[in-house]
Amino acid sequence: MKLSGWVLCVFAALSVYPVAQAAERPNIVFIMSDDHAVRAVSAYDDSLMQTPNIDRIAAGGMRFDRAYVGNAICGPSRATMLTGNHSHANGFYSNEWSGPFDGTQQTLSTLLQGAGYRTAVIGKWHLYSDPVGFDHWEVINNAFEQGTYYNPEFRSPAGVEQVNGYVAELVTDKALSWLNSVADGEQPFFLLYNHKTPHRDWLPGPQELRGWDEAARVQEPPTLLRDLAGATEARQDARMRIADYMTNGDVKLSMARNLTPQQAAIWEQAFAEGNRQYEQADLSADETVRWKYQRYIKTYIASVRSMDREIGRLLDYLEARGLMDNTLVVYTSDQGFFLGENGWFDKRWMDEVSSRVPLLLRWPARVEAGSVNSALVQNIDFAPTLLDAAGIQPPEPMHGISLMPLLTGEVSDWSRHLYYHFYENPGFHGVPRHYGIHAGRYKLVHYYRYDEWELFDIESDPGEQVNLYGSDRHQQLVRRLKDDLANLRKHYAVPEEDPEVPWYHGPVIRVFEWLLKLL
Ligand code: CA
Repeated sequence: MKLSGWVLCVFAALSVYPVAQAAERPNIVFIMSDDHAVRAVSAYDDSLMQTPNIDRIAAGGMRFDRAYVGNAICGPSRATMLTGNHSHANGFYSNEWSGPFDGTQQTLSTLLQGAGYRTAVIGKWHLYSDPVGFDHWEVINNAFEQGTYYNPEFRSPAGVEQVNGYVAELVTDKALSWLNSVADGEQPFFLLYNHKTPHRDWLPGPQELRGWDEAARVQEPPTLLRDLAGATEARQDARMRIADYMTNGDVKLSMARNLTPQQAAIWEQAFAEGNRQYEQADLSADETVRWKYQRYIKTYIASVRSMDREIGRLLDYLEARGLMDNTLVVYTSDQGFFLGENGWFDKRWMDEVSSRVPLLLRWPARVEAGSVNSALVQNIDFAPTLLDAAGIQPPEPMHGISLMPLLTGEVSDWSRHLYYHFYENPGFHGVPRHYGIHAGRYKLVHYYRYDEWELFDIESDPGEQVNLYGSDRHQQLVRRLKDDLANLRKHYAVPEEDPEVPWYHGPVIRVFEWLLKLL
C-alpha cells in the first residue's frame, strides 16, 4: 500500500471510534527512562535481568514489540514526544547544538493543560528551557541537565536546589508529593515522570550497591569483540568502542566526585576490592574489554533495578489510592542502547538496539490486559495517542497518529513505514548523520555524508551484521525502498538542507572526549 493509502486507512479507521467523553477522561502517568534497552526489560526478554515492576504495566496492558524513536538521542526524542513531530519540525535536532526547545509551539502538555488537566513534569527534561504547559515542574539541572545519580540539582520556578540522595528515589518522592496534591481533585492529571536512569555513568542506588556481587558474571553478546573491518566507513569512524572510549569513571575505577562521605563508603565497599584485583591482574587487551564489559553491564543492570524499585513505589501509590483503574500508565525510554553489541556502548544509530524502545501501555478501561501488538509504531505517535485518549483534537496536525485503534483492538491491518533521521554530527561518539526507512522486515539506511548505504533483513539478521546493499539479489528491493524513503521524506517535508553547526563544535567535542578519559 502506498503511503497516502495507509494514512487514509488509519484516519478512516479513527473516525469510527468515538473519542473519550470528558467525564471519562483518564489520568495519565507517562514514565520515560533514559537509555533503557528493550533487552533489559523482562517483559520483553528475561535473559539479562528482571524488571518486575515495569512488567506490571505490561501484564495489565499492551506490550508493543515494534516501537521505535525517530532520532535516537535524549533531547530530540523528548521534543518529539511532546510535539508529535520529527526533529526537523520541532526544531530540536541535537542535544549539543540545537537548544533551547521552543515551548511556544503546540505541545502535548499545553493542550492537556488547556483542556483542564492538572499537569506536571518531574525528573529529566534535557531541553535547556523551562517547561511550558505544566502547572508544576521540577527538572534535573546539573551536568548539562543530565544530572548526577547522587545529590543532583533540581530546577523549578522557585530556582535551583541541590538535594542529597539518590536520583531515582528523589524523582519518585517528588512525583508522589505532587500526586498527593492532585489525586483527590476534580480534574484529571497528567504526570510526566522522567527518570535519569539508566543513562551513562550507570551508578546504582545504595540498596543495589550494598548487594554488589563482584564475582557474578553476565553473558557477553556474541559481537563484543567484533572487528568492524569490512563494515561501512561510517561505522568504523564511530567512537563508541568499550575498548577505547569507556572511561575510568564509567567502569568505577575512579569514584564519582560528588558523593557524601557515607555514600562514598558504600561505593568503596562495592568496588574497591575489585579495582585492586583489576590493577594487579595485568590483563590482555581483549581481557580488559571483557572486564570493562562486566563492570558496565552489571552497573547498568543494577541501575535499572534501582529505577524499577522506584517505579514499583509509584505504582503501589496509584493502587493504594484506587487510581489504577482510571489512569493510563505508559512506560517507555527516550531510546535504546548498545549493551556491548559490536563492542559498543551508547545509542544514536538506526540499529534495532538503539532506535527500538520498550513501549508498555496500561489502561484497564480500554486496553486488554496482557495483550501484545507488533505494529510498527514510533514516538511521533505518543502525543496524538494521549490526546485521543483524553478526547482532544490537536488544532495543528502532527506527524504521528493515534494508537488508540491498536490499543482497543479495533484495527489489525496497520501498514506503515517509519522514517528515521540522526543529525548530531559533529558530536560525541562521532556517529555520522544518517536517515533511513524501516519497512518492517527490511531497513535501508543512508549515511549521506559518506555516500554509503546499508540494507538489513532484520528478520533473518536481527543483529544487523550483514549489509545486503551491494547484493545482486536485492537490487530491486533497494530501488523500491529508495522510492519509499523519498516518499516518506516528502510526506514529512524533510528539508534538503541540514541545520548549520558552529565550526568550532567538532574540535570542542574532541577535547571534551579526551578530557573525559582523564577522569
Ligand atoms: Ca537517552
